[in-house]
Amino acid sequence: MTLFERIIAREIPADIVHEDERCIAIRDINPQAPVHVLVIPKTVIPRLGEAAAGQEELLGHLLLTAAAVAKREGLGDSGFRIAINHGHDGGETVPHLHVHVLGGRAMTWPPG
Ligand code: 5GP
Repeated sequence: MTLFERIIAREIPADIVHEDERCIAIRDINPQAPVHVLVIPKTVIPRLGEAAAGQEELLGHLLLTAAAVAKREGLGDSGFRIAINHGHDGGETVPHLHVHVLGGRAMTWPPG
């Protein structure tokens, strides 16, 4: 099981901010901004580049959930950053797709 599957199965505790039949959203254990939430599909997709054509609806659901979480966290007006890290150079550390929602401070560009 991936780390996030174990969180979904309640084997590892997490601060859950949203859950539905397709995904879960948890606060990142090592937040990089005042708001840092991870939106994670319950179906394991290792990383974005391994998502299949038939998973468009799930991928769209993750983005819409990320936007809804951002709004609920009070970031609707101030703004937020969505990030998906793929592979070594992308900064991926957990091989189970997740959408980062970051906000509560001004983000820089280009990203580090
Ligand atoms: P990645 O680097 O793969 O894009 O993102 C993985 C994220 O998972 C990191 O931001 C890291 O802080 C977070 N993370 C790692 N282990 C745990 C954990 O046990 N609980 C929670 N809530 N987040 C975790």
